Amino acid sequence: MAARARLLISYAHPDDESFGLGGLIAKYVAEGVEVYLICATNGDVGTVKPEFMKGYDSVAALRLAELDKASKILGFKEVFKFGYKDSGMMSSETAKDPDCLWQQPVEAVTRRVVEVIREIQPQVVITFNKYGGYGHPDHIAIQRATVEAFFKASEPGYETGQAPYQPQKLYYSAIAKRQIQMGIMIMRIRGQDPRHVGRNKDIDIQAIVNNAEPVHTTINIGAYSAQWEMASACHASQLGGRTTPRLPQAIRQRVFSKQGFTRIHPKPAHDRVDEHDLFAGVKLDERAIPAPTAQQLEPA
Ligand SMILES: [Zn+2]
Repeated sequence: MAARARLLISYAHPDDESFGLGGLIAKYVAEGVEVYLICATNGDVGTVKPEFMKGYDSVAALRLAELDKASKILGFKEVFKFGYKDSGMMSSETAKDPDCLWQQPVEAVTRRVVEVIREIQPQVVITFNKYGGYGHPDHIAIQRATVEAFFKASEPGYETGQAPYQPQKLYYSAIAKRQIQMGIMIMRIRGQDPRHVGRNKDIDIQAIVNNAEPVHTTINIGAYSAQWEMASACHASQLGGRTTPRLPQAIRQRVFSKQGFTRIHPKPAHDRVDEHDLFAGVKLDERAIPAPTAQQLEPA
């Protein structure tokens, strides 16, 4: 069996994978990479119109079913659902629920990520940036646990009953800074306040830009925009009633044809774009092959 490239995406909600990285996932799957997903929460705080609830007894069941549909389109090798409750935004009551992801000790979540890393042995790991993209507590929680786990997974003293394993590269998904700055400009012209956006006015778009980290890697995903859209459409309950995105496909294909990443490990020497493939420089060795048993060694 040939050595396989394996990519782990460690994210928080059912829809983060499709909305954020749908094109990228489709691209790497098409190129033969085994792509795995950690979805840490059930997305049960997502606002859902009653028409979407037909056939489901909870928001969590609906949102995980939407994730299953999207996963089929994107072609994940496996999805690890951690099952934590969605925390909602920082200021909300749900973020105080003892079962929500935000209330878990980082160490407990880290352990679960280490177990996944040791099981699937990905060479490359992606998570959110330190601000969790747009300040969502669940994004921040899984980011912290994933960064910890990335390094802990190789410590022989960190016991999970599995062999230690060190992935080679760690990335944060970068936000589309230029596009967001453009959006802020348009909002200001329209007299809207970019610091209080969204249904609950708790998203600060200026802070998203202020917390953006340098981009070291850009990946061309223009050829996968159709799959990206199909996967995103699976999360219909989260599209706010829109069935089609706001911008025409030709424009979106141009504006969002590149996905940017911040390389955390190995640490870049300079803050500039220096690669166009997450697997650049990665060694694709076989998984550790278990020692043959006495039975296998016996002559036939
Ligand atoms: Zn999310």
